[in-house]
Amino acid sequence: MTLLPAVSAFLSSPKQLLIDGEWVDAKDGRTFATINPSTEQDLVQVAYASSVDVDRAVSAARAAFEPWSRTTPRERSHLLWRIGDLVDAHADEFAQLEALDNGKRVEAARDGDIAIAAELFRYFAGWATKMEGTSIPMSVPGREFHAYTRREPVGVVAGIVPWNFPLLMACFKIVPAITAGNTVILKPAEQTPLTALRLGQLLLEAGVPAGVVNVLPGFGDTGAALVEHHGVDKVAFTGSTEVGKKIAAAAAGNLKKVSLELGGKAPNIIFNDADIEAAIAGAVLGGYFNEGQCCVNGSRLYVQRGVFDEVVAGVAAAAAAIKVGDGFDPTSQMGPLVSQEQHEKVLGYIRGAVRDGAVLTAGSADRVGERGFFVQPTLITGVHEEMAVQTDEIFGPVVTAIPFDTEDEVVAAANNTVYGLAAGVWSTNIGTAHRVGARLRAGTVWLNTWHADDVTLPRGGFKQSGWGRELGSFGLDDYTELKTVIAELR
Ligand code: ADP
Repeated sequence: MTLLPAVSAFLSSPKQLLIDGEWVDAKDGRTFATINPSTEQDLVQVAYASSVDVDRAVSAARAAFEPWSRTTPRERSHLLWRIGDLVDAHADEFAQLEALDNGKRVEAARDGDIAIAAELFRYFAGWATKMEGTSIPMSVPGREFHAYTRREPVGVVAGIVPWNFPLLMACFKIVPAITAGNTVILKPAEQTPLTALRLGQLLLEAGVPAGVVNVLPGFGDTGAALVEHHGVDKVAFTGSTEVGKKIAAAAAGNLKKVSLELGGKAPNIIFNDADIEAAIAGAVLGGYFNEGQCCVNGSRLYVQRGVFDEVVAGVAAAAAAIKVGDGFDPTSQMGPLVSQEQHEKVLGYIRGAVRDGAVLTAGSADRVGERGFFVQPTLITGVHEEMAVQTDEIFGPVVTAIPFDTEDEVVAAANNTVYGLAAGVWSTNIGTAHRVGARLRAGTVWLNTWHADDVTLPRGGFKQSGWGRELGSFGLDDYTELKTVIAELR
């Protein structure tokens, strides 16, 4: 697959910060390299925002807030719809950029990340005109009142996002925020800043006013400067639980609102009476989707003893057959991991499991090929609950499988984690499926399916997987304040 002319043109243009509707260099002139994880080569240099640039962006977002929050819902709705169509019109270009920067397959990016991002704009375009309040009766003897509530924007929102779905995660923050009338400063992940910058160009083209969306590429220190800034009213973060805890602590300075979508270690439970063929396919998709770099992946398989060998053999065969290769090669079925750091971390977990006595039923503890951060999908058996491979979020194509006998035993094991993002159950007995689903402590539970999703559905985590819910009808709650207005009728 060759590069589209628009992608080549974008790559050869300067990668600056978007502040107040202008593309500018970092004040101190610093830049960083973003690399192609399939080739390990530098792609381009990108401006690196420091705390001085954060100050500039916060001032711009603050100044833009009042006029933006007073635009009519219909204006925002039409603008959002227009942006959704623009994202669609540039889908091939976004998909190539995402594949270059993140490593994922071009097709997976186009049909997944980019298509959903476009749909998010259109879905929230509908909500802009539907943020309603209520009128509430009061009982004060001898006096009359009219009391009602309004949903108002929170103010300046800092969106800090990870590298696994770069454009999509950026849109998860930008879209509900601007729908509700907030202004935004987006901090893309240092590994994958490119599609957020391209989106910034399209937002200006669509007519988003200066300062309403600012884009500041940088590292953790850029994110930390945003989180500490007293001019920021809310932080919307997706990333690791470790950084999420730092953000919650750092946000205390001005008690800014915080929503967090953090790590996961989802249990995927297969009962003897499951449709085994579907369950194996679901375990493979659930385990290895997006190179295993997805917080709702089903990385802990629990299989009832009667079908354990059959399921393990099926998942192992499918994992071994997955063709790992460059995201631009249409015959590839899985791309590389995002970075050298991630590659070393994932291979380290696999080696550690082998050292602890676990068995690699599929995959390998060695890298695939000489160049690029490739890992063959792995299935690990002979695992104990205390092993790091079983307790930690690995964020790679690594699935463990443990047999179980009873429902109570598997529910206890599945819930034996600090995380609570997703979980799944496979059983043809609807009683078993719904009962076990209700007992699992997770924000999303899939029954006889995995990764089925829609922008209409709320998502988020129990326990240390986060605070708040994104998307669906709940998706605007975290981006609005509820105001109570009381008028005396004299
Ligand atoms: P991952 O483990 O998926 O790389 P991280 O939680 O490390 O996720 O990073 C997610 C995002 O948070 C990235 O944009 C990163 O730059 C940013 N980040 C890292 N450290 C901090 C911090 N201390 N404060 C704010 N943002 C941070």
